[in-house]
Amino acid sequence: MIDLRSDTVTQPTTAMRAAMAAAVVGDDVYGEDPTVNRLEAVVAEQLGFAAALFAPSGTQTNLLALLTHCQRGDEYIVGQQAHTYKYEGGGAAVLGGIQPQPLEFEADGRLDLPRVAAAIKPDDFHFARTRLLCLENTLGGRVLPLDYLAAARRLVDAHGLSLHLDGARLFNAAVALNVEVAAITRYCDSVSVCLSKGLGAPVGSVLCGDRDFITAARRWRKMTGGGMRQAGILAAAGLHALTHHVEPLAQDHAHAARLAQGLRTLGFDPDGPHTNMLFLSLEPSQATDLARFLHQRSILITPSARVRLVTHRDIDTAAIDRVIAAFAEYGDCPYSTP
Ligand SMILES: *Cc1c(COP(=O)(O)O)cnc(C)c1O
Repeated sequence: MIDLRSDTVTQPTTAMRAAMAAAVVGDDVYGEDPTVNRLEAVVAEQLGFAAALFAPSGTQTNLLALLTHCQRGDEYIVGQQAHTYKYEGGGAAVLGGIQPQPLEFEADGRLDLPRVAAAIKPDDFHFARTRLLCLENTLGGRVLPLDYLAAARRLVDAHGLSLHLDGARLFNAAVALNVEVAAITRYCDSVSVCLSKGLGAPVGSVLCGDRDFITAARRWRKMTGGGMRQAGILAAAGLHALTHHVEPLAQDHAHAARLAQGLRTLGFDPDGPHTNMLFLSLEPSQATDLARFLHQRSILITPSARVRLVTHRDIDTAAIDRVIAAFAEYGDCPYSTP
């Protein structure tokens, strides 16, 4: 199967499994897992923070960040389509009494900073207290420019807010910009990064921040059931990914570009490539039809009005060419209108 649905579908490599099997472990709730401690230290250092916390998922590290930045009755400003608003079950509201203030993204996928400033509530008991701006990078594969992040930092400083970055695909952004991750994260008070997306680990995300922030987040992690015991087996996969799977992200981006180019040649009009993603706008019935057609050729997509095609470690150049060939065949079908 060539699975284009997401970069979460990667299988751990043999070398990664060996690193996991060999991991020295302890009870991480006691702070005694040397491999978890090493992963947290490595990620904190790379991202330029004093401390870090390993958790089972990016949903959880984002939730811990929101619960730590905001109290009950506080609010965070966030994109209407942002993961931290739309795709995390409303966790901050459900568990933290934290109100989101969603704003529409601009056509380029960014939150317009003057509109963010306008959404900050005055200090008035009628309003929730605006505490936090949440950004996402990459966002639908798009990389936030560094000068945009610098401007966002100036904005939050001017209004006494904090800035959290959902950096689920932070390393894709850094590879695309050809900068160290710290060049991106330096503008943020906290950052969540996923090890289980393009980096190819089976499980895990890391939250970074200052020492007090991570101490408070650690309490929330325990409370929300994210305290794991011999988690070094999982952290070892993350360490392996950080050592071996960052540079190859450039391959995923090249594959997305190759796929976009191939589809354009066939007369499709994909949005992208944006790092490791591209999007196809289709009629709903056509999307279902296309998904069925591709499935018969061992290619998986999620049918929707905007089909997301995601490249990752388990898709090589030959697989991209097979996908392009399948689309060519589909374009030839009498019942299709690409
Ligand atoms: C995947 C993802 C997360 C976290 O998802 P989990 O599946 O909970 O690890 C957070 N933000 C973005 C943008 C994501 O793509």
